[in-house]
Amino acid sequence: MTGKAKPKKHTAKEIAAKVDAATTNRGGGKAGLADRSGIEKGGHAKLECPLCKVTAPDLKTMQIHHDARHPKIPFDESKLNNLHATKLVAEPSSKPKPGVRGSLKN
Ligand SMILES: [Zn+2]
Repeated sequence: MTGKAKPKKHTAKEIAAKVDAATTNRGGGKAGLADRSGIEKGGHAKLECPLCKVTAPDLKTMQIHHDARHPKIPFDESKLNNLHATKLVAEPSSKPKPGVRGSLKN
């Protein structure tokens, strides 16, 4: 026996890292691919932070993000950008993709 295992505590930093991982799509698997290509929007990245444009799948995640990143600003649900609600039918790709800017020539 070499010492005893201590119960792991969740620090604020650790939670913030988890929120970051949850709200940042690093595009590893199929979900990331679908998200990047703009095919699948439903059920993923529903809300967008109006302050830093980070996206979250639901309100709870967004609130955790807000508390972690913008603790001095009161959380206001109505100020969030609802990507599902603002999604226009005529615009399949509402988000400008970084790296392809300036390629909108006719
Ligand atoms: Zn934010």
